[in-house]
Amino acid sequence: MSAGGRSHTPDRRGDWGAKTSLRMDPFADTLQRLREAFSAGRTRPAEFRAAQLQGLGRFLRDHKQLLQEALAQDLHKEHSKPAPASGTLHKLCPLPGRSCLQSAFESEVSEISISQSEINLALRNLRSWMKDEKVPKNLATQLDSAFIRKEPFGLVLIIAPWNYPVNLILVPLVGALAAGNCVVLKPSEFSRSTEKVLADVLPRYLDQSCFAVVLGGPQETGQLLQHKFDYIFFTGSPRVGRIVMSAAAKHLTPVTLELGGKNPCYVDDDCDAQTVANRVAWFRYFNTGQTCVAPDYVLCSPDTQARLLPALQSAITRFYGDDPRGSPNLGRIISQKHFRRLQGLLGCGRVAIGGQSDEGERYIAPTVLVDVAETEPVMQEEIFGPILPIVNVRSLDEAIDFINRREKPLALYAFSNSKQVVKRVLAETSSGSFCGNDGFMHLTLSSLPFGGVGASGMGNYHGKFSFDTFSHHRACLLRRPGMEKIYSIRYPPYSPRKLRMLLVAMEARGCSCTLL
Ligand code: NAD
Repeated sequence: MSAGGRSHTPDRRGDWGAKTSLRMDPFADTLQRLREAFSAGRTRPAEFRAAQLQGLGRFLRDHKQLLQEALAQDLHKEHSKPAPASGTLHKLCPLPGRSCLQSAFESEVSEISISQSEINLALRNLRSWMKDEKVPKNLATQLDSAFIRKEPFGLVLIIAPWNYPVNLILVPLVGALAAGNCVVLKPSEFSRSTEKVLADVLPRYLDQSCFAVVLGGPQETGQLLQHKFDYIFFTGSPRVGRIVMSAAAKHLTPVTLELGGKNPCYVDDDCDAQTVANRVAWFRYFNTGQTCVAPDYVLCSPDTQARLLPALQSAITRFYGDDPRGSPNLGRIISQKHFRRLQGLLGCGRVAIGGQSDEGERYIAPTVLVDVAETEPVMQEEIFGPILPIVNVRSLDEAIDFINRREKPLALYAFSNSKQVVKRVLAETSSGSFCGNDGFMHLTLSSLPFGGVGASGMGNYHGKFSFDTFSHHRACLLRRPGMEKIYSIRYPPYSPRKLRMLLVAMEARGCSCTLL
């Protein structure tokens, strides 16, 4: 049994991690080793951090094809050409009898290049991010040094989901490495081929005394979570987010929770229906709809719906052909369990476009549902598949009210030719992120924080936000040993004069309220 607790042969996981076979607690040795490395200060120097980030970059470059093959197999995307015979993962094809072929475009855009950009950004900025941050002082501390020191938390656990199994584990890892932590990575057991590459190959590129990949499903992860970590970064469903947060609470461990939910997409009457349909369709059906920030449902008037339907049909046909099942650009649903859940949702409302499915292939056609009731399951749970319900509203007010009656979403979209309409949706709602007149393009900006709010999560990352997330911001004030005479105004016996002087001295300088 590996450090993940699941039964793998030792070479299944490579030689990284603990010798765990006969131990009751399969994680203890690994975690102990990492803690010792952190206590020894191994991960703190900037040179060490940079070397790990460079190693991660080399891993991506050296094994890009292997990763793309793994992604193709996990997400069951087909391609026009079979993966090369040399592809070591080809034989692991999860759909026997069919070629599991590489779909390079989506994995390049959403997994490899995003991870690489994050590494490059961290390498370029590492030293400036690590620098102590000077802060304004008051009169009482004028002669002192006041700053924020960015300290690594220590031992960090990163738990990832299956839908972008490279991006959603490596991008947080970049932040954790840059911030100088020791890291345990727990990839999803559903994206098995990618999990295998991460477990077998990635360790060769990082310092094994400071990092480990552990494997397992709910049971093993539950066991892992009994241990004390100094920070837990979880991406996944709200249901499991609650489990992770409860486990973290036992040790008072801080968490970032990157969760899911239903992302509304308001489409105003004043819009170009074809442009909106192209954008909504691409972002809805990208990765077969298995994207946490995908537009989950459209809110629009019946008139706009009538204009959108042929435009959506046109976009789907242009993107995936007359028979999307044969398209090399449309993937498959990750597992039988998820397929059955989605097949159930096809029974909601009325199918206006698509609706076909094939259990053997876990294929679901790009689908649009209309006449959907709010109470139906497709409007109650996160869809996470290639199904787009349209819900009718009579006005912008009604759309805003509809959005605000629900949990705060991870992302919110508004399409309109009118800036005022987009600005009103932005001003009168709340969500983890917002994009006007497009899908999740905001994710391409590492200058924006990525994270949820309320039920869609807490905390954020990407770019410098990742570094800050994985750093403890330690408040520091270094005072002079002398000057006791001046400082003694704060000591008893107290007097009104001393109080006046102290209040003046303690007032923050250089701050003015910008609202007044
Ligand atoms: P999931 O919550 O089922 O699993 C996520 C991780 O938790 C996996 O590594 C899994 O092994 C582990 N896990 C599962 N059950 C567990 C348990 N009982 N105890 C401890 N660990 C457990 O999520 P998923 O199905 O892999 O991913 C889909 C969900 O993730 C969707 O809700 C989606 O919106 C969300 N998601 C969010 C983001 C984001 O950035 N906010 C990104 C991608 C996916």
